[in-house]
Amino acid sequence: MKGILVIIDGMGDLPNKLLGEKTPLEDADTPNMDFLATRGEMGLLYPVKPGFIPESDEAIVSIFGNDLMFSTRGQLEARGAGIDLTRGDLAMRVNFATIDSLEDKNIIDRRAGRTLTTEEAEILAKALNKINLPCKFVFEPTVQHRAVLVFRGGFSDNITGNDATYVQGKSKEVNKISNCKPMDEEDNSQYSANIVNEFIGKAFEILNKHPINNERRRKGLLPANYLLVRGAGSEKPKLKPYKKWLSPSYMPLEIGFSEVCGMKVVTFDYPKLESLDSYENLYEGLEKACNFSIKALKKNHKDFDYAYIHIKETDLPGHDNKPVEKKTMIEYIDKTLIKFIRKFAPPNKIKVLITADHSTPCKLKHHSADPVPVLFYNNSIPKEKKFSEKEAARGTLGRINGKDLFKKIGFNK
Ligand code: ZN
Ligand code: ZN
Repeated sequence: MKGILVIIDGMGDLPNKLLGEKTPLEDADTPNMDFLATRGEMGLLYPVKPGFIPESDEAIVSIFGNDLMFSTRGQLEARGAGIDLTRGDLAMRVNFATIDSLEDKNIIDRRAGRTLTTEEAEILAKALNKINLPCKFVFEPTVQHRAVLVFRGGFSDNITGNDATYVQGKSKEVNKISNCKPMDEEDNSQYSANIVNEFIGKAFEILNKHPINNERRRKGLLPANYLLVRGAGSEKPKLKPYKKWLSPSYMPLEIGFSEVCGMKVVTFDYPKLESLDSYENLYEGLEKACNFSIKALKKNHKDFDYAYIHIKETDLPGHDNKPVEKKTMIEYIDKTLIKFIRKFAPPNKIKVLITADHSTPCKLKHHSADPVPVLFYNNSIPKEKKFSEKEAARGTLGRINGKDLFKKIGFNK
């Protein structure tokens, strides 16, 4: 193996009051990342380009050297969830969410309080799959509040989602639901938007009065009564091939992305959300992800040139404004996965690239355009360094756009 890429989702952050005006990464105790930083170079990465607020899919598509393309997420997530797609099938990423009513349109919570158990999601999905539509479709819950939705047939993907927060250029949350709208004058785009809107309206009627949600209200929990959709895609994204790469992955987006790139995907089942404590589930998932990645590297490193490891959990405390949790997760990754890599990389002459797909500053509770720190370990002469946004800004790699990252450091040769 020549190189390992570790993407720590949403790791970039801004100084936070709760951490004495440090960022979670800066405040975290990360001796193993610092070891690698000391023997390498640092810099700042604009995952897509300066001023752009990336979603995870847009960032990884760019970091892997592709031009940013519209309509990838639904396709990648549906493929990652194991749904077979043919050309023209319209795939979308879905969140179970909470709204007050279709009349008032207020989004109460984008993730139904992050308390929807796996079992509840499966029961609600069963009810949704019985909706009557003029086309075939499949609704598949994935991890926690997440799901994918696929409409079968010859659809246009040139339509918006129904959550204006995710329309590029918006850096503030918009807490009103909207309809999916066509983004061109084509009849098929109008038709496609209509079908999605019809489904979402019918889904609300079913979800809002479903016994699962009545029970949730009784327990004082938010009902999962609405579906927020985005990332419409009806064609397989054309991505650069990465055939000699190993991808230990577990979230549908990363699985789908890796498969479309031709990587070898090895995966595990994410722990089910059984209790109301979504952070307990996240820590369980994080532990599994780190252990699994270590095992996958040990077992397969001779058969592949590179590995792509994407740790998802760290993005969530950013969205929830929990800087201490975020710092704790970064420290956990450092003392497990990165500790292993620190010992594993030098004798095997493996280069290590650690970065994030975007910043999710806790105090903003959403992704931002701020650049993310990059650490590139190439076993160079040790210098005193701590891996953080601040030190990376002074790093020798300078400022890099996502698409140029691998070229700049000679990764994937
Ligand atoms: Zn992300
Ligand atoms: Zn995020």
